[in-house]
Amino acid sequence: MNGVYVHIPFCRQSCFYCGFHFSVSLGDVESVVECLCREIRVRKHYLNDEQINTIYFGGGTPSIIETRQIYKILQTIRDNLIVSDNVEITLETNPNDLVKQKIQELHDIGINRLSIGIQTFNPKLLKLLNRCDDIKHIYSCLNDVYPIFKNYNIDIIYAIPGQTHNDIIYDLEQVIKFKPTHISAYSLTIEPQTIFEIWNKRGILKPKEDNFASDAFLFIDDFLNQNGYKHYEISNYCLEGFESVHNSNYWNIENKYLGIGPSAHSYNGESRQYNVSNNSLYVKSIKNNKIPATVETLTKKNVVNEYIMLGLRTNKGINVNYIQNKFGYTLPNEYVNLFTKLKLMERKENNIILTPKGMLLADKISEKLFI
Ligand code: SF4
Repeated sequence: MNGVYVHIPFCRQSCFYCGFHFSVSLGDVESVVECLCREIRVRKHYLNDEQINTIYFGGGTPSIIETRQIYKILQTIRDNLIVSDNVEITLETNPNDLVKQKIQELHDIGINRLSIGIQTFNPKLLKLLNRCDDIKHIYSCLNDVYPIFKNYNIDIIYAIPGQTHNDIIYDLEQVIKFKPTHISAYSLTIEPQTIFEIWNKRGILKPKEDNFASDAFLFIDDFLNQNGYKHYEISNYCLEGFESVHNSNYWNIENKYLGIGPSAHSYNGESRQYNVSNNSLYVKSIKNNKIPATVETLTKKNVVNEYIMLGLRTNKGINVNYIQNKFGYTLPNEYVNLFTKLKLMERKENNIILTPKGMLLADKISEKLFI
C-alpha cells in the first residue's frame, strides 16, 4: 500500500506546545498551494507509478485553506498518480474552521475522513494550550460533522499541566458521546523551541509527573476498550474496521509514501527524503524546479530497527520469522524472555506484541532488541 501526505503549513495561531512546522502568516497561501501542485507533478513517479491507497492532508491546519484550494491539490494528485477507487482521503481540521457549509463542501469534493483536533473539553486547559477554539465551537462542530461524515477521528491530549484525573474522565466521556470511529490520545510532551519549553525552563510551567502520564495511559486504554474501541497503536484507538489506512501505512515498512510540502517526509523503501521546513525557501526552490530536500539512504540496520520500533507500537507487533527470513537477524532471546517474564510483551505464534504496560516502555524495549 502507498500513500500521499500533503503538508499545509498554516495555522490561525500558535498552540504553545506545538513543535510542528507552520506559519501564521496567511499571505502566502496561494503561492504555497501552487507549489504543492507543482511538486506533485514533478515527483509523480516517486512511488514507481504504484497505486495510492491513502491521501492525507496534515499540517499545520489544512482546514484553514479554502475548499477550492484543497480540491485543486486533490485533482492534481488524481491527474498525476494512480489513485485507488477505495482511497481513504483524510483532512486534519480544527473545530473553528468547521462550519456546516464547509463540512458539506469537504465531503462533496471527496474528503471521506476528517481528523478533528479537539485536544480537551476543558476551557481553562484550552486556554493554557493557546488553542484557537472555544467550547461552543467544539460542540457545534461535532454536532454538524456527525450527520455528514461517518468516518472521523478526534484527537485528545492528556497529561496537560494542571489537568486532573477527573478532567481526563470528563474529556473521554465527551468524546465517546459523539461516537467517532477513531480516537487519537497523545501524552503532552514539552517540545523544543515551543512556548511551553521556555516556560518550563523558567519554572513557570509545571509539567505533569511521569506517573500521572503512565496512569492516564493505562486508564484511557481501559476506558476506551470498555467502550468498544480497539487499542491498535500506542496513541490510537478505533471501532472495529476503522483503523486509519494512512497511519497504518507509516507503521509498516513495506509501504511507501510521498510527502508533499514544506517539512514533509517521503519514504520509498530505500531512502527517506525530508523537505525543507521553511515556507519561503520551499516556494523559492519549487519555483526554480528544485525539490528542497535532503535524502537519507537507509542501511539494512536502519530498516530492521525501524521495523522493530514501528511494529512494537502496534497491536500486530513484530514477526520473528519475517525478521529472520528477510534480514537474517534473530532477536536477542535473553531480552525477549525477560520482557515476557515481566509481562511487558507476549508471544502470539510468531509475533511479539507489547502489553499496555510494555507500550509505556516501547522505546526502551525497542532499543534492547535493535541490531
Ligand atoms: S493547530 Fe496544530 S499544527 Fe497548528 S499550532 Fe496548533 S497544534 Fe500546531
